[in-house]
Amino acid sequence: YREIHLINRPEGTPTDQDFAFVEKDIPSIKENELLLKTLYLSVDPYMRGRMRDVKSYVAPYKLNEPMNGGVLAEVLDSKSDRFQQGDIVTGTLNWGEYNIVQANAVQKVDPSIAPITTRLGVLGMTGLTAYFGLLDIGKPQAGETVVVSGAAGAVGSIVGQIAKLKGARAVGIAGSDEKVDYLVNELGFDAAVNYKKDSFEDDLKKAVADGVDVYFDNVGGPVSDAVILELNRNSRVVLCGTISSYNNPAEDLGPRIQWKFITTSSMMKGFTLGDYASELKTGAVEMAKWFQEGKLKYEETIIEGFDQTLEAFRGLFEGSNLGKQLVKVADP
Ligand code: NDP
Repeated sequence: YREIHLINRPEGTPTDQDFAFVEKDIPSIKENELLLKTLYLSVDPYMRGRMRDVKSYVAPYKLNEPMNGGVLAEVLDSKSDRFQQGDIVTGTLNWGEYNIVQANAVQKVDPSIAPITTRLGVLGMTGLTAYFGLLDIGKPQAGETVVVSGAAGAVGSIVGQIAKLKGARAVGIAGSDEKVDYLVNELGFDAAVNYKKDSFEDDLKKAVADGVDVYFDNVGGPVSDAVILELNRNSRVVLCGTISSYNNPAEDLGPRIQWKFITTSSMMKGFTLGDYASELKTGAVEMAKWFQEGKLKYEETIIEGFDQTLEAFRGLFEGSNLGKQLVKVADP
């Protein structure tokens, strides 16, 4: 079977030459181990950061070792009494067509609750990121205006819907007219604007005529500069991601608009989902409840084939995904 290894630290946009597909044999499993067949794998923007050799909240990927991330897999063979052949499981696993893991490295997924792929999106890491970042840091109040960048992506599309559930006005920023249309007409955002248009700044000003109370930032860069200029008094800026700079070779030291936080008495706070490790269960229960009540819609962009993993990953930086980007590796 094949695994994808990182063999060079990419400069700029990762290329095929930065990775190798490495052939492996399936070993026989030992006591307490599982043999897993990968069904779906998640590609995520944060993985670009882990390709650099810098200290961060997660360790860098090691050269000549497999990439890893969120994976959904089927148990093909089990030497643990907690798992049976045919069980669906999830965990942080290698980018491989198969994985051999200790039983405690994965959690069971109940396919009767929701489509299993939701565990890599709305009911998994990206949905919970939206939930904790928005509710704990953004604290949206009824009638306030919440702006979210990267709005048609996995995290952003959920942020806007939770803002609506809290009675706030949701305004999305995304990179195409189709995405803008999806946000307003499918997800019920109050307004959305396309940041790639020349009229972006004017369109944004119109969409947030009463100013911005909460800004959930997934992208950074010029999009965020434009939003920050519209902040109201006592507003909250949630720093979730800065995808616009992930492929930059050097630090992105931008225009100085911190003054806006002084004159509006606003605050800006970064977070990672790991900050909420002790509350993840509570968040997951509330998200599952909203999901089952039909209050959260989600979209997935699924590329077929393990070969297409790098293409799917690079697509995140080109906006080729609507909602959560996944790679389908095999049928159950
Ligand atoms: P998305 O599904 O949102 O995919 C990325 C999207 O970013 C693309 O679809 C694209 O949409 C947009 N994008 C790409 N390049 C740019 C650019 N230069 N300027 C503006 N937008 C751009 O990914 P996720 O939902 O998984 O992640 C969203 C953000 O949240 C990322 O920054 C990620 O790193 C961060 N994150 C942070 C976590 C945390 O714990 N803090 C956890 C999970 C994610 P478009 O067509 O609109 O350009």
